Amino acid sequence: MERKHFELGDIVQMKKQHPCGTNEMEIIRMGMDIRIKCVGCKHSVLIPRVKFEKNMKKVLRSKASEEAQNEQ
Ligand SMILES: [Zn+2]
Repeated sequence: MERKHFELGDIVQMKKQHPCGTNEMEIIRMGMDIRIKCVGCKHSVLIPRVKFEKNMKKVLRSKASEEAQNEQ
C-alpha cells in the first residue's frame, strides 16, 4: 500500500464528512498524533496518525506547493 504524503498546513479531504457538512480539513499539528481543523466550522480534533492516514482520502491543497507557486 502506498504511503500517503501530507505536510503541516495541507488541506486534506477525509473519507467521512464532518457533521457540519464540510470534508475539508487543515493539518495544524503533526506528531504521533495529528491535529486537524475543519475548514467549515473551525472545530479541531486530535487523532492518531494511523487513524488519520486511514481516514484521509487525499490532499486537496498542499501548503508547500502553494508557496512554490507564489515564488514564481
Ligand atoms: Zn466542521
